[in-house]
Amino acid sequence: MKQQTIAKKVELVGIGLHKGVPVKMTLEPLDENCGIHFYRSDVGVSIPLNPENVVDTTMATVIAKEQYKISTIEHLLSAIHAYGIDNLKITLDNEEVPIMDGSSIGYCMLLEEAGILKQSSPKKILKIKTPIEVKEGDKFVRFEPNDACIFDFSIHFPHPAIGTQSYKFKFSTKNYKEEIARARTFGFLSEVQYLRSIGLALGGSLDNAIVLDDTTILNKEGLRYKEEFVRHKILDAIGDMSLLGIPLLGAYVSYAGSHKLNHLLTKKLFENSNAFEILESEESQKIYEYALQNA
Ligand SMILES: [Zn+2]
Repeated sequence: MKQQTIAKKVELVGIGLHKGVPVKMTLEPLDENCGIHFYRSDVGVSIPLNPENVVDTTMATVIAKEQYKISTIEHLLSAIHAYGIDNLKITLDNEEVPIMDGSSIGYCMLLEEAGILKQSSPKKILKIKTPIEVKEGDKFVRFEPNDACIFDFSIHFPHPAIGTQSYKFKFSTKNYKEEIARARTFGFLSEVQYLRSIGLALGGSLDNAIVLDDTTILNKEGLRYKEEFVRHKILDAIGDMSLLGIPLLGAYVSYAGSHKLNHLLTKKLFENSNAFEILESEESQKIYEYALQNA
């Protein structure tokens, strides 16, 4: 399996979830072994994707270089990872990725419009060798060795429209598009007022999030999947794990995980070099390809 980029430059315009301002986003091909790079054209600053560049995980995953931030990168990265793209330049003329409809289906469509270009260097794969975990009370995120790429997530919210939800996702591009890509982010009306008072969620609306009051879902169209909430948590986890910079072979398991715990897990993994190995041989490429084809 070879590294991939996109076949041609594509762009879209949308608004940021938190600041609510219009932003233009351009995706361009990058050479092999370059990885994923963000670029803020309004200030002329480039930010490589790397766990070390994460500066905030409270409401979204935020990367920065000096005082220049790029916020809410996780949904876009989730789609990029799902399409097996290793090398890409993402240019924004403001500090936030357009939120689209709160899911990643819009980015999937943009990537399909761009097309996928196979490159000549082998794809590197990060294989989990021993379990590694980050906990916070009863919440946890964990990597476990596995021959497939699995995202297994559970949540519990004491709300009649959510309750307990679990979903086990076998990663492949096709499965992602069908089972995960359309799951939207969600928020509670009781939190929205507070967030707006601190200058967040200013672009949020029923067009880009599932919004819940104390008892029901306010979106007239209802849900897109029965377990849309937990599926969105998987969408987020796939995006956050892409900060590893290399696709994962193994299982990600979580109860009530968050951007914060995801970030701590990627950092902890890189601090424990005996917990993983990087596969680069022809043979290991086949193992990964086989895992995806049989998902
Ligand atoms: Zn999200």
